[in-house]
Amino acid sequence: MDVSRLLDQLNDKQRDAVAAPASDMLILAGAGSGKTRVLVHRIAWLMEVEGIAPYGILAVTFTNKAAKEMRGRIEQLQGSALNSMWIGTFHGIAHRLLRAHHADVGLPQNFTILDSDDQYRLVRRVLKSLNLDEKHWAPKHVQWYINGNKDEGLRPQHIETHGDATQQKMREIYQTYQQTCDRAGLVDFAELLLRAHELWLNNPSVLEHYQKRFRTILVDEFQDTNNIQYAWLRILAAPSNNMIIVGDDDQSIYGWRGANVENIQHFLRDFKGAKTIRLEQNYRSTGNILKAANAVIDNNQGRLGKKLWTEDSPGELISLYAGFNELDEARFNIARIKEWRDNGNALSDCAILYRNNAQSRVLEEALLQESIAYRIYGGLRFFERQEIRDALGYLRLINQTIDDAAFERIVNTPTRGLGDKTLSQIRELARESELSMWDASSRILAENRLTGRASNALSSFTKLITQLTQDAAALPLEQHADYVIKHSGLFAMYKAEKGEKAQARIENLEELVTACKQFVVPEEADNMTPMSAFLAHASLEAGDNQADKHQDAVQMMTIHTAKGLEFPLVFMAGVEEGMFPSQMSNEEPGKIEEERRLCYVGMTRAMQKLYITYAENRRVYGQDKYHTPSRFIKEIPTDCIEEVRLRTTISRPVQNRFTPVTGHTAFESTGFQLGERVSHPKFSEGTVLNYEGSGEHARVQINFDEFGSKWLVMSFAKLTKV
Ligand code: ATP
Ligand code: MG
Repeated sequence: MDVSRLLDQLNDKQRDAVAAPASDMLILAGAGSGKTRVLVHRIAWLMEVEGIAPYGILAVTFTNKAAKEMRGRIEQLQGSALNSMWIGTFHGIAHRLLRAHHADVGLPQNFTILDSDDQYRLVRRVLKSLNLDEKHWAPKHVQWYINGNKDEGLRPQHIETHGDATQQKMREIYQTYQQTCDRAGLVDFAELLLRAHELWLNNPSVLEHYQKRFRTILVDEFQDTNNIQYAWLRILAAPSNNMIIVGDDDQSIYGWRGANVENIQHFLRDFKGAKTIRLEQNYRSTGNILKAANAVIDNNQGRLGKKLWTEDSPGELISLYAGFNELDEARFNIARIKEWRDNGNALSDCAILYRNNAQSRVLEEALLQESIAYRIYGGLRFFERQEIRDALGYLRLINQTIDDAAFERIVNTPTRGLGDKTLSQIRELARESELSMWDASSRILAENRLTGRASNALSSFTKLITQLTQDAAALPLEQHADYVIKHSGLFAMYKAEKGEKAQARIENLEELVTACKQFVVPEEADNMTPMSAFLAHASLEAGDNQADKHQDAVQMMTIHTAKGLEFPLVFMAGVEEGMFPSQMSNEEPGKIEEERRLCYVGMTRAMQKLYITYAENRRVYGQDKYHTPSRFIKEIPTDCIEEVRLRTTISRPVQNRFTPVTGHTAFESTGFQLGERVSHPKFSEGTVLNYEGSGEHARVQINFDEFGSKWLVMSFAKLTKV
């Protein structure tokens, strides 16, 4: 047997790990040292040399994208498809288990996954039903409380309140929330993990089956597992099984979501005799990038400590750019991307990373202006767009009438004159009688409890759903979706709206039908109807079905989403105090260090070239804020980084600095410059922020001191310099 290809492209330490005799193992190493590569090769090795069937292997990764990549890489090494191997995220695997064993954990067969937006709405509804004021019981906080407890494996009855009234109330909210979910067959993300854990605890024979099956368990990005995930793994990994975990304490960035980096120590405690392997050579980044990233992370305390070196040359310096404002920053970045593309490089080799999702909008607009294709991972994904959620609401309710979240979403969309009062009545009855809102509606109608108008409105809704259910039942998935979208009134509603946005919504709805058409029911979902499988897919895999999947496009995502990935060219945007590290991290102990790890993750995504940019002025929540460069920038050794200066003078107005980038001479011929102070007869004084077009047709964006930002047509605006 020739297994040399499994070992060829590995260094000695990586080889040790890949070809080690069966044992528990910890691979602890810094970014880009080949941890994920070792996992992939180890899996291939186990199958080929140890003769373990793909069926006997469980591999857990952090994102769907990473799981797909891992499967692809193993299949490439093996030269064959590996359908029976379980590779997925914790949530994906938990979901699969619960589908197969729903009865064992007390779930209906067609249970629905509640994503975090659904959960938020449901929490608000629960607060309302308990007559609690959102001002005192912030729904986001309640959501955090519920998920936090679930992540620790705690049901309401496990929570100690020590007689504290607030704590007791929180527990009560959690309890009511959970009852509502249970009644409606709804499962939130944290619940997936908790139930999967309870499946092990309460069903020894099921557990035993999987313990016998999964002889080897491999986990990538282990530093970001939370307590319930670790507990779940630990039970599954019976003494005769092997667990191989891979991680980097410096890349632990989900502490805010309950991840516990100490799980690495717990692993060493629980799996005595586990072999620890450290990898020290980085194969990803140039010398300068690596040196800079190492220097930044060195400012954290209590690290497990790792050396990381590269054979690679120092490469280019990191470039730092201080934008006058976020528009200037975006324009600078996009100009660099254009150069990159014009030099014959692929857009998909280039990533823009940012701290918060909201930062993407300005960057998106700049990309659109230059007609550069881009793709966003995370954030506003296809399945999260309003019109898609509406359509999914119909499909979900038809699929399962007990889905209260879906009921709430669409009962009055399009509007059919159902008032808040009627809805409260339905909620009330549902809660009191432990009915779904759908059943409560039927009862209210049957008992004639409503006024004529309200009754008509509600019964038109129930008739519509009943009719749609009948008509669509026998149709194949794609036609089913198409029928429901067209006959629910959604299509007509969005069609009636004017403008580009409405047009985009219509296109999205059409794309949903395409998504149904392209959907292949996965093997593990063969006991589900295609529609149930599709709806589960929509909740779990949001974002993977964007229209421009195959197009060469700039990759945009938050730094969190970029974990484990790599790109030749990387931009980190918005690296200023108050943004990154975030304002909030200043107030909580330990948070700055987590932000610094995030910075380390961001920097180490870059292979050849890294740009770090920030904006001196940024509009945040509609207010202009003056920002200083992030402390992390100051932690980078000066010999690794150079500041790009496009301006000839430091003082404003910032003439010239834009000229080399986008050639704004046409605008400057109007006599105004970006950053300049101007006065308007009606809006008084403001600052020139942006422009489009040229000469007479130019439009100019001014941030007025009193009236905020406005776009004006240059030739009508009667602007004067201040
Ligand atoms: P991260 O911590 O960011 O997840 P990682 O440790 O998982 O990083 P990989 O993604 O596995 O690192 O590897 C980083 C890059 O280095 C990849 O492009 C990989 O193919 C390459 N690489 C890893 N090991 C070697 C090797 N021995 N020879 C050549 N290239 C390697
Ligand atoms: Mg990795």
